Amino acid sequence: MYATKETDSLTFHQGEIRIPLTPFHFCPGLLTKVFGPRAFWLTSFMAANVLIDLEVLYYLSRNETPLHRHLHSYLGGSAVGLVAGLIMWGVVLIIARLMPASSRWKTRLDQTPKTKLLTQSLLAGLIGGISHVFLDSLMHDDMHPFWPFVTGNTLAGIVSVSALHIGLGLLGLFSLLLWLLLREP
Ligand SMILES: [Zn+2]
Repeated sequence: MYATKETDSLTFHQGEIRIPLTPFHFCPGLLTKVFGPRAFWLTSFMAANVLIDLEVLYYLSRNETPLHRHLHSYLGGSAVGLVAGLIMWGVVLIIARLMPASSRWKTRLDQTPKTKLLTQSLLAGLIGGISHVFLDSLMHDDMHPFWPFVTGNTLAGIVSVSALHIGLGLLGLFSLLLWLLLREP
């Protein structure tokens, strides 16, 4: 499906972002953390977003286009999201084991069944993967979000890149402030 070609330069083209701006993807996760269920695994959500954008970094390093391929589809993004959820679940269990017994965080974790923790982590990773593909599909016309069923991306350009980044940035800032204000001491 992908006809690859070498790019002559990796400069910025007008309206086209050539480096992955992954932190913008964290903003909806922050909002979910503030208003969503307490057990939302922001770490798994963020890990999914980082893993998906490794695809862009890889093709940038090889000077090849398109930059957004299989991992930037709902199928690929969901799979990566689940992998991220699995990895973060394992990481958190290892960290919990190393924490002192007096840790409130460890106590809370130990009281929750491991399968429930896994489900929570997988779900957050999945949401991270799907939201990543959706947000990127508003910007990048080299994506095929519904691969392998449908080619093309009709949503690309529906919102200007700057408006999307400003909106996400404000959303992230707002969520972060609320999180700091509302979190338990
Ligand atoms: Zn991306």
